[in-house]
Amino acid sequence: MSLRIATKLNDKREDRKSCFCSLIEQAEYDKSRAEIRIVGVDWILIRSSTFRAMIHATEKMLGSAAEPIWWEIAKHAGAEFAKELLKAGTAPEEFPTWLEMFFTQGGWGVITSKIDLTKKEAIIRIENCATARETKSNKPICHFVSGFISGVAEAVSNEVTEGSETKCLARGDPFCEFRIEHPLSKEHLSI
Ligand SMILES: [Zn+2]
Repeated sequence: MSLRIATKLNDKREDRKSCFCSLIEQAEYDKSRAEIRIVGVDWILIRSSTFRAMIHATEKMLGSAAEPIWWEIAKHAGAEFAKELLKAGTAPEEFPTWLEMFFTQGGWGVITSKIDLTKKEAIIRIENCATARETKSNKPICHFVSGFISGVAEAVSNEVTEGSETKCLARGDPFCEFRIEHPLSKEHLSI
């Protein structure tokens, strides 16, 4: 997301909850460029099953080595997302709302977060997570989502954090759960 989007969205703070819905409604198709533009930047549509297949294919080729690759790609994306929002004047305490909008209304799953900014700890739960739905695994597999959340956390806190997925829908848990902690933190949150 560009600074342009963040600025435009921040201009609509009073209507933030419905803002992302209206983003989809505002999608415009530029026929001459074959681009879908939403608040000024281009997006592409990709089926979630295709995205999961991409992850599965890399894991089949690379084994567990694929996991940090997806994690790092997403961490960079999450950090960029957060930096753009920060540049546009978004306060750190507003990030849970932003994450909720982009994940829940972006089709990534129903997100619930509990964030302690003082301790730089967070628990993020996602029901029907896009990278785990229709998938079975004997271990957590949502490395992309985990990396994205970690990237956001590091950009907002401006410190290194430790992130992990502790529950995963693909493993049979009722939802995916991600924990972000400051390395020196001793106490833990619980939802
Ligand atoms: Zn998961």
